[in-house]
Amino acid sequence: MDFRIGQGYDVHALAEGLPMFLGGVRIPSETGFVAHSDGDVAIHALCDALLGALALGDIGHLFPDTDDRWKGVDSTELLAAVLKLPDYRDWTVVNADITIALQAPKLAPHIEAMRRRLSEVMGISPSRVSVKATTTEHLGFVGRKEGCEVWAVVLIARK
Ligand code: MG
Repeated sequence: MDFRIGQGYDVHALAEGLPMFLGGVRIPSETGFVAHSDGDVAIHALCDALLGALALGDIGHLFPDTDDRWKGVDSTELLAAVLKLPDYRDWTVVNADITIALQAPKLAPHIEAMRRRLSEVMGISPSRVSVKATTTEHLGFVGRKEGCEVWAVVLIARK
């Protein structure tokens, strides 16, 4: 079989009074992500991993933040759009593994909802979508609650 691997990384700054979306799920929080889109940093990293697997560039290139079409966009729409690219027609997602570094709030209660939502959008079983969360033990910009950092890895296979 023909396999490809991709990895993605994204960071968004946190600010008070903004809604927090992660993995396609609204997370109850006093802070949210500063962004042109809904700021779903987990989906952005996942999109970059999917694009990387086929060497298709990055989401900044595909959905520029200078384009008002993507202003406030639900990032699940970006994820669906990546998988609808003609280049993706012959490929299927084998699995995805996402690591979210966020100091607060605790994400454990939302992990299953994120796995369900992401697998739904990608059209694969939740057993193929891993979402993990960690703090950074109060170190660095994540630890100071200034932002969130996400890494994503995907494996895709030719149908
Ligand atoms: Mg982003």
